[in-house]
Amino acid sequence: MAHTLQAIRGMNDILPTDTPLWAGIETIMRNLLNRYGYQEMRVPLLESTELFKRSIGEVTDIVEKEMYTFNDRNGDSLTLRPEATAGFVRAGIQHGLLHNQTQRLWCMGPMFRYEKPQKGRSRQFHQLNVEAFGLTGPDIDAEMIGLTARLWRELGLTGVHLQLNSLGSAESRSAYRDHLIHYFEKHYEQLDADSRNRLYRNPLRILDSKNPQMAELIAAAPLLIDHIDAASASHFEDLRARLDQVGIPYTLNPRLVRGLDYYNRTVFEWVGDHLGAQNTFCGGGRYDGLVAHLGGRSTPGIGFAIGLERLVLIAAASGLDKLSAHSPQAYLIMVGSRAEQQGMALAERLRDQLPRLRLTINCGGGSLKNQFKRADRSGAHYALVLGDDELASGKIGVKPLRHTEPQHALAEAALVDLLRQIST
Ligand code: ATP
Ligand code: MG
Repeated sequence: MAHTLQAIRGMNDILPTDTPLWAGIETIMRNLLNRYGYQEMRVPLLESTELFKRSIGEVTDIVEKEMYTFNDRNGDSLTLRPEATAGFVRAGIQHGLLHNQTQRLWCMGPMFRYEKPQKGRSRQFHQLNVEAFGLTGPDIDAEMIGLTARLWRELGLTGVHLQLNSLGSAESRSAYRDHLIHYFEKHYEQLDADSRNRLYRNPLRILDSKNPQMAELIAAAPLLIDHIDAASASHFEDLRARLDQVGIPYTLNPRLVRGLDYYNRTVFEWVGDHLGAQNTFCGGGRYDGLVAHLGGRSTPGIGFAIGLERLVLIAAASGLDKLSAHSPQAYLIMVGSRAEQQGMALAERLRDQLPRLRLTINCGGGSLKNQFKRADRSGAHYALVLGDDELASGKIGVKPLRHTEPQHALAEAALVDLLRQIST
């Protein structure tokens, strides 16, 4: 026997029992983004490797060890997107969407990172990305955080918390960089291999280390927030006042640096109690230098990404699996070939008149008893029956499946009325 083919490690199937929860969450997200005036933009899954190296930064986990990179048949180096901001900025520059304009944009789809698969961490995963260009904030910073807070409310999530920090300007960051190098040099023997490697190339990355042996050293390191410039400090204060105004609680986390190189000023993360080790499910921040860095005319930007796998875990833990009510409302049973022909036409007439009706028709024949079993298993409210008797009388049999009412016969117009009541 040939061996069974399996999905690639870390690339998960989302089965039909789970897709209703996913789709329900996605619908709530799309509606909310629409209400806030954000427009969808779709960018390719593949981009040139150089784009990600330049935007994410060479000395990052993603670029150093997580990218799916290969040469195409033409010898060009391509990479499956590990995140969406780079593609957004590339597209914005290419199509002239950024300079002297404001844009509020979003996109949803798969990302790819070669990581160790575990709960809440896979190699293909999905994100909702939201980005705004041309606004210096802090009003837009507050809007974005407010949008996420409303999303969690509308999804009914429990146990989620906002963490906030400011990274200051590029200049204050580079001054801080010197302090940090000085501090870690003093404790060189305590650095792990990764951190030694990053000490002069990108010391801020050391703060992001997940190695528990580094935790104490990192906890005592100088704080970036103590070195930020006056303009960034007042930006941050203004943002905090706005969040207080609308009643969004947060914790200041001076250790929050985020995994990507391009952030400045505001950075934030949402963490969930239900997630265990992978507890951040949404992260974002301001990246005012990125557009110019990628060759466009200087345009401020801010954005965030929600990890949908982790969001779905929180949603399920918060009791949201009830979004999954997608069983049919009616199941059409047809006995005999004449009934099958007329039944298909009846079903189409019902669908014409009741655009919201979820109607499944029996396929593959079978006895009356057999088809009733399938109708019951489908979760439908009603079985509709077309057999010899019904064809002779011109009516349709209707049997409620969820309570013990007897089967009765209805003319087509009366059936439409009945189904209209349950299909709105
Ligand atoms: P982590 O520290 O968990 O690796 P990250 O800082 O690399 O996260 P970001 O690049 O900020 O993550 O991506 C934003 C969100 O995307 C994360 O908060 C998370 O919800 C999700 N995410 C990132 N990587 C993965 C992955 N491998 N599997 C599932 N979700 C992921
Ligand atoms: Mg990561």
